[in-house]
Parts: sequence; structure tokens; C-alpha cells
Amino acid sequence: MTTVSRRSGGQVAIPITELEQSAFCQTDGNLRTRTLEEEFRSGVRWQKVPTRYLKLSPEELDAGILEARKALGQQAIILGHHYQRDDVIKYADFRGDSYKLSRMAAEEREASFVVFCGVHFMAETADILTAPAQNVILPNMAAGCSMADMAHSDDVSDAWDDISAVLGGQDEVVPLTYMNSTAAIKALCGRNGGAVCTSSNAAEAFEWAFDRGSRIFFLPDQHLGRNTALKLGVSQKDMAVWNPFRAMGGLTPEQIRRAKVILWQGHCSVHTRFTVEQIRQARETHPDVNVIVHPECTTDALQEADVNGSTEFIVRTVSQADPGTAWAIGTEINLVNRLAQENPDKTIFCLDPVICPCATMYRIHPAYVLWVLEGLMAGLVINRVRVPADVRKDAITALERMLKIGG
Ligand code: SF4
Repeated sequence: MTTVSRRSGGQVAIPITELEQSAFCQTDGNLRTRTLEEEFRSGVRWQKVPTRYLKLSPEELDAGILEARKALGQQAIILGHHYQRDDVIKYADFRGDSYKLSRMAAEEREASFVVFCGVHFMAETADILTAPAQNVILPNMAAGCSMADMAHSDDVSDAWDDISAVLGGQDEVVPLTYMNSTAAIKALCGRNGGAVCTSSNAAEAFEWAFDRGSRIFFLPDQHLGRNTALKLGVSQKDMAVWNPFRAMGGLTPEQIRRAKVILWQGHCSVHTRFTVEQIRQARETHPDVNVIVHPECTTDALQEADVNGSTEFIVRTVSQADPGTAWAIGTEINLVNRLAQENPDKTIFCLDPVICPCATMYRIHPAYVLWVLEGLMAGLVINRVRVPADVRKDAITALERMLKIGG
């Protein structure tokens, strides 16, 4: 999912997922689902499907999906991430953020088929946590995550070797990866005494890691890493950013030795859109507004906001707030719109006046959902996500540590 080029190749790689992000930004607030053929006309490069699915109208897709669900019964469950468009989330048996959905995947042992309406790293995690006989299906294999695509497994492995060589022993540094990373990176953490964390338990994971080593190598979101380290009292001068496009991450051995936290230079193209200026503007137009943002936002935006927390925290906080309160939210627009619809007694709006859905979640179009469900009806498992056994073994170690850390 990357335009290619490892740091050794000399070129700078920008994930296609990042380039596509702006393709869906608009100002009229209309996120209606078009036919897949219309979506393709905007120049996106999504997975090819049989021609029949290109022209189906929203009504035809809806009727087909409902019929397939009925025919498949308990054999198939659909998991839907909160950032999915309404025309997909409405079919989900369970909704959640990546952490909640991964726990559900681990608990749902009955269904033979888990159709994961999320992005690739989430489907990989579900495959790792479900029973071997269960099939995890990602409706559109092009649904990646621009942040996860910023950390190529080979580059991370090289970086880990470089850092370990400078520090003279792996006990010195604990690798921690955010859930939004490939299974191979999770496995590297599992093999080397590290763990996976989520935005719900990043602080607990940092404390866990500092109990085991004097430094943390955090991947792939520099903002979540920086925000969490600051929360725990680590100062900016004790952090270094590893640039994967430069030799030794662009750091000197001395900078590596001095750093308590080494942050991979990755970011979320959705959450870094929120700015201090937008927050000030929201306060000007709504003087009593509460500003809540996701910790993948920049430190400046996070420090300007009133509250911050994971996607589930945002859902809970806003849903449980008193009637009449106002909320300016810094997270993905489909979730913000849904919260506004489900909480008509509150004023809820997105901090960013430009409507920018997560472009990769957006790739799960209802036509893909119908395609994989009809495949199952015909006895075909389309788009099964399978993590190789050796990667799975080490990744599960890191994921089990995450589940034990809790939070
Ligand atoms: S919102 Fe950001 S981190 Fe989440 S899936 Fe989209 S690009 Fe990835």
C-alpha cells in the first residue's frame, strides 16, 4: 500500500492511503454513498470486483446484503469500526474501536466467518485472536491505514537493529507498538520483550515498559507516543524522532543514548488535521463548548482541548454528557455525525469545517460487503486475511501483554 521506496532506496515513500486522504474532503457535508462505479471515477485505486457490483444502487445493495445476512445466519458476524460510513455500520453486529473489536473477535468463537468492516491491521489482529478455524474477511483488501503504512516492517526491523547496536543490549530499550501497525511489527515487539498498546491504555503500557527498561521505542504514531510520554512527565528534550527515510533515523548515537522515548515518524492523516485555531474558533462561536480530541492529534491541539481520549472514551463521554451541553469533537467525521444524530439533546459538531472521512475506512463500500457475503453463500471465502504462523506466534505474545496491561 506504499508507493515504494525503502530508506535504502533513497526515495521518499508516501503511502497511497495518505495521498488519497484528500480525495474525499468536501465542504457540503454530504457523505452519501455513491455506486462503486461513481467512486472509481474519482480516480481511487481500490480492489477490483466483478462488474455486476459496480452499478448496484444503494437500494439494491441494501436488499442484497439483508438477504445474504439472513441466509448465512449465525455462521457470519459483521464487525464495524466506529469510523465506517452509515451505509456500512448499519449492518454491524458489533461496533467499536480497534481495541474493543479485537476483544470481541477473541470472544466470538462461534461464527465461522468474521467480516471485518475496518482496515487491514484490524483484520490481521482479529485473525490472530480468533480460533484457527475461523475466517476473518476484509471486504476490500485495499483498505489499509495511512499511519500503519508509514511503518514498513523491514524498515522497523532495521531501525530496531540499529538502535539495539547503539545501546549495546536489547534490555536497554522496550519496543511498544500502537495497535495501528502490521502483524509483523507486533511480532517484533513480542519477540523483543515489548507489547502492543491502544489509545485507551497507552499510559499504562508506557508505565509497564518503563518498569522493564530505561527507554521505549514507540511505533508508529509519533503524536500518540509524544502525548503519552508528556502525560507521564517525560520532557520533550528526552524524546527523539526516528525518521525512517534517513540513515540511523537521522539521529546521532548520542541522541539515541540520551532519549528516554524514541518515536517513529508516523502520523494519522485524519487526526493531524485538527488545529489550535479550529479550537479557538469553536470557542468563539460556542462559548460554552467542551472540546474533546483523540490522542493521535498533535500535542498543540491536545493541550488546547478540554479533554482527550480514545474513540471509545469520546463515544462514552459525549453520550453520557448532560443534555444541553455542546461538544466540538476532533475525530473522524462519520463518528462525529453519528454522535450528533444519536444525541439530539446536545450540540455536537466536528472541529474541522471541511468534511474529511478516513479515506481508508471509506474503502469499505457496501458493494464490497455484498460481494464477500454472496461469496460465502456460494461457498467461496473471498479476501481472507491470514497471518503466517511464525508471525502470529510472536504477535500474540505482544497482544496478550496488551490485554494483561488492561486500561
Ligand atoms: S483514522 Fe487515521 S489511524 Fe485510524 S484508520 Fe484512518 S488513517 Fe488510520
